[in-house]
Amino acid sequence: MYLLTDKFLKFGIAVDPVEPEKIMKTLAMEELELRAVITTHHHYDHAGGNKLISEMKKNLTIYGGDERIEALTNKISHNEILKIGDIVIRCLHTPCHTSGHVCYFIDCETIPEPICFTGDTLFIGGCGRFFEGSANDMLQSLNILSALPLSTKIYCGHEYSLNNLKYALSIEPDNEEALNKFKEIQEKLKKSEPSVPSKLGEELSYNPFLRLDKKAIQLRTNKVDPVSVMAALRELKDNF
Ligand SMILES: [Zn+2]
Repeated sequence: MYLLTDKFLKFGIAVDPVEPEKIMKTLAMEELELRAVITTHHHYDHAGGNKLISEMKKNLTIYGGDERIEALTNKISHNEILKIGDIVIRCLHTPCHTSGHVCYFIDCETIPEPICFTGDTLFIGGCGRFFEGSANDMLQSLNILSALPLSTKIYCGHEYSLNNLKYALSIEPDNEEALNKFKEIQEKLKKSEPSVPSKLGEELSYNPFLRLDKKAIQLRTNKVDPVSVMAALRELKDNF
């Protein structure tokens, strides 16, 4: 979960607040008011705190792209723009992990660099499992995310980065960027620091699921067309 705050206008927006007590405590400490919740998808480890947080803060707006999201008040659609205070959020429908998965892209003056909350669609060095979609769906969804500015900071839903980079290296052993990122993550985790965020520009240099057109990956998967490469990469990952 994440908490996005506007300290000037004194409010916060919670992203997948699975532990509402922690979020509310932080907001109270910083003297900020919770203005909205944005939910990436309906899975319990993302939306499971929505009911409790809506009880802790009355009349709370909870956004999401799937009717199955707990305590949902506002269902959003692809490319819808949310304006919360001065924060402008673009909702990106990225189905595959779940059919109603949404990523939230923010690029506005209040924030120094563009950011994207990618839930379980794009991870550092990987992507989510295809629970409710096909390889083609993931390809389309990742294409939407790849088209964001290269400086976009990626805030994903889980700390799977180290294992993802191990996998990336098993697919492209000669990829120096992957090796460097692996070492960087190892160092961060050793110091109990999160590996998140990364930048989209770096992801494109080592995340195999964003590199379907690379010769080494096509040779490794023995496939050429992007949908087949995507499916093969996922299968290899599921058995990794
Ligand atoms: Zn999930």
